Amino acid sequence: MTLTDWNDPIAPSPRGPRGSAGTLADDATGLGEIDRGAARVSVSDKAMINARADVNQLLPLKYKWAWDKYLSGCNNHWMPTEVSMQADIALWKSRDGLTEDERRAVKRNLGFFAASESLVANNIVLAIYRHLTNPECRQYLLRQAFEEAVHTHTFQYIVESLGLDEGELFNMYREVPSITDKAAWALKYTQHLDDPDFQTGTEEADRAFLRDLVAFYVVFEGMWFYTGFAQILSLGRRNKMIGIAEQYQYILRDESIHLNFGIDVINQIKAENPDLWTKAFQEEVRGMLADAAELEAAYGRDTMPRGFLGLNAGHCEEYMRFIANRRCGQLGLAPVFGPSENPFPWMSEAMDLRKEKNFFETRVTEYQTGGALSWD
Ligand code: MN
Ligand code: FE
Repeated sequence: MTLTDWNDPIAPSPRGPRGSAGTLADDATGLGEIDRGAARVSVSDKAMINARADVNQLLPLKYKWAWDKYLSGCNNHWMPTEVSMQADIALWKSRDGLTEDERRAVKRNLGFFAASESLVANNIVLAIYRHLTNPECRQYLLRQAFEEAVHTHTFQYIVESLGLDEGELFNMYREVPSITDKAAWALKYTQHLDDPDFQTGTEEADRAFLRDLVAFYVVFEGMWFYTGFAQILSLGRRNKMIGIAEQYQYILRDESIHLNFGIDVINQIKAENPDLWTKAFQEEVRGMLADAAELEAAYGRDTMPRGFLGLNAGHCEEYMRFIANRRCGQLGLAPVFGPSENPFPWMSEAMDLRKEKNFFETRVTEYQTGGALSWD
């Protein structure tokens, strides 16, 4: 054990004099020394990345879209344990309730999501949070992180309810190559940001941050999750695994806000830092979406080698192309694929729970108001 020599001069931080008086601008995390003499925060000092304003002060708000998404997330609160699994248990345990192909697709789908929710959560907490220097965006990230915990809880609850092999399911992202390929593709972007020496502030680093946002918000949550939802909701529409299908509807409602938050974050960073969004970088992002669609197509062929009623690998590939083109449009990019049709037009209805409350004729708990506390 080495004792600290208190006479040693304090080595300058490789990141510059962060935290010392008058350098609030360098305190991206909000954990530096308090700048006692600093001027009060003005909205014009606030920025998505590399902000000069104190990140510990929520108000005054600059990005109302981020605050609104935080409120929407809170209004959508749900817990997986509120959904009855009785029908799913009966169907899963009955010998001819599901075909072997359907079982394979369901298990791989669950296995993909079970680890993916943790990957997404870890990316928020360990990679994105400290570099996004805006408190209202951080407020949303805290809400999103909790929602990812609820989603991971969902897969624990499904495993427990159906008596699935937890080791098989939670290890699929390491043991099923078509799932590993997707996770590994996204992980390389978060690994880069997790490096303790990584900091934004150069064009190269800021682009690395944007790549991570594209990989996790646009590709992972905005593309791959959507084919996953379509698979399970397609079974639900045929009255199979209706408990899981209801849970997936809630997850889909959450994820559509996660996706839209990510799109808004990327577009806001672009607007504030137009130099980052070069033609070459736009091509790179389009290439990322095209690669992601190909990885999903391979996963679809692996998961549904023969296909079943209403769903096959071809549909999933077509849907992925349709979704990839939509995501390009949301980012202001030219589509990566030729004109493509949506093979699952019912997916847009499935997304609007408020309108389609009895989609699966199951109970929907609304959390629009908090319960009153009783003091007696
Ligand atoms: Mn999630
Ligand atoms: Fe999410």
